[in-house]
Amino acid sequence: MDDFSVVPLGTVSPYCKGNMNCPGFLVQSGNCKLLLDCGPGVLKYFNYNKDLNNLVIIISHLHHDHYAGLLELAYGSYIQNRIGNLKNKIKVLIPEMEDKTKDIYSMLTKMNESYLEFTTYNDRTKFNFGNMNVSFLLNPHNIKTYSTKVKVGNKSLVYSSDTGYDFDHLDLFAEKVDLFICESSYITDQDKPKGIMHLSAFEAGMIAMSADVKQLMLTHFFPEFDKQKYVVEAQKMFENTIAAEEGKKLVLK
Ligand SMILES: [Zn+2]
Ligand SMILES: [Zn+2]
Repeated sequence: MDDFSVVPLGTVSPYCKGNMNCPGFLVQSGNCKLLLDCGPGVLKYFNYNKDLNNLVIIISHLHHDHYAGLLELAYGSYIQNRIGNLKNKIKVLIPEMEDKTKDIYSMLTKMNESYLEFTTYNDRTKFNFGNMNVSFLLNPHNIKTYSTKVKVGNKSLVYSSDTGYDFDHLDLFAEKVDLFICESSYITDQDKPKGIMHLSAFEAGMIAMSADVKQLMLTHFFPEFDKQKYVVEAQKMFENTIAAEEGKKLVLK
């Protein structure tokens, strides 16, 4: 069995297209699984009988493209429990409620016919799950949003989720990680509307270089754009860059 691996399940935003889904990354070590974000479409890749057990879900923030797959999973988990395939409720970590997210927060946490169990987290939260050690960083974004770091032994990855550019912030959190999964909503800095809290591929490359990571995996692409154009732009700053592809597993070794 692979000791520490990640499978991108969703790499685009703000909507699914073809075989591309909204954000989701399945991180696995031993028989423990972490699902980082659960956007629309992500669960198409799920093996319901197998993947639901020993699963913890971390929602980076309550924008629809990052959590809306939970609505499907709520009912899926409820039925799987009723037919005896799922004994324990699936733990879902979501950011603490704030004014802007209170309707979504209350909709998720009060769902009937669901076998999900919600708890909140913040940037001081740390926990171990199997071999995995998990910690968070608060991002500059429109609502409370967190980057997640997962360590297994001396290997580590960071998933940025959505973030604006903030020098000396994400760079320090992602310092020397083996895999840096970073959003690149825009290809070049010139494409970015003023004041928007997202990164360009060029900025993702700058952060990867400054953090001295081993490999950069770009994600959060616009569905209509060619992923390779993002990669070429990031490579101006950081050579070892790849694009996240649905279903393409990467083993950290
Ligand atoms: Zn997003
Ligand atoms: Zn967002």
